[in-house]
Amino acid sequence: MAILRSSMVGTKPTLVWVCLITMTFPRRRMNGSIVLFGPPGAGKGTQATRIVDLTSKPQVSTGDMLRQAVSLGSELGLAAKVFMEAGELVPDEVIIGLIAERLKGNDASGGVLFDGYPRTIAQAEELASIAEVSAVISIEVPDQSIIERIVGRRMDPETGAIYHTKFNPAPESISGRLIQRKDDNESTVRTRLSAYHEQTSPLAGWYENQGLLIRINGDQSIEDVGDEIISHLSS
Ligand code: ADP
Ligand code: ADP
Repeated sequence: MAILRSSMVGTKPTLVWVCLITMTFPRRRMNGSIVLFGPPGAGKGTQATRIVDLTSKPQVSTGDMLRQAVSLGSELGLAAKVFMEAGELVPDEVIIGLIAERLKGNDASGGVLFDGYPRTIAQAEELASIAEVSAVISIEVPDQSIIERIVGRRMDPETGAIYHTKFNPAPESISGRLIQRKDDNESTVRTRLSAYHEQTSPLAGWYENQGLLIRINGDQSIEDVGDEIISHLSS
């Protein structure tokens, strides 16, 4: 503090107070975990990178964790596979166990960035009992844009980067190694959208009642969506 005081000699008193308050009370929305919420294809994974850069919180994507379990052929993966391929939600007990285990990691102690979790009220209630949620970022995109986004989604298996054949094309040097998810087809997307509207979208009101929901217009360019999110989190 003495060093701080001496380094501020000659600075306006109001500015000194602003600096002290900012250092003592970090931004409320960054204290605990942040939830990225929205329909499949809303841009949660795409925007996660910028939020991780801003907050240094690790990204926890239940979709990625489940896909890894499926590719390893673990018991959990085998149980989840049939639901994922059908576009239905994996049962709450499986997801809740997966998250409880992940939150034991040392890197989770300062909160994490949840991507695609929670997706039901039961999952949100369970989360509230084990972790503090400080903001829920709801990326809102109309259904008619979702199908085109999902069908054109491609992933780089080496870096995990997400591309789109039209909206965010990959550099030509890596285009040969891109993969398309098995469930990213038109008929499965329709089932996933129904699951979203029936089981997941009620969560928006649930979090809104707690004053945690931040609505973001997801129907604009990737960069503009990101700018809107960052400005909310930084305010
Ligand atoms: P998307 O990014 O398209 O929304 P995800 O990668 O998040 O898809 O999830 C892929 C699939 O994994 C979902 O369709 C669902 O079957 C399963 N899944 C992922 N997260 C959850 C969750 N929190 N609860 C239940 N099922 C989940
Ligand atoms: P989610 O994680 O919510 O399922 P993704 O981040 O994987 O969504 O994005 C789904 C697809 O839509 C990807 O191909 C991505 O490149 C593309 N995409 C993401 N955000 C936008 C945007 N704002 N405008 C157009 N396409 C987008």
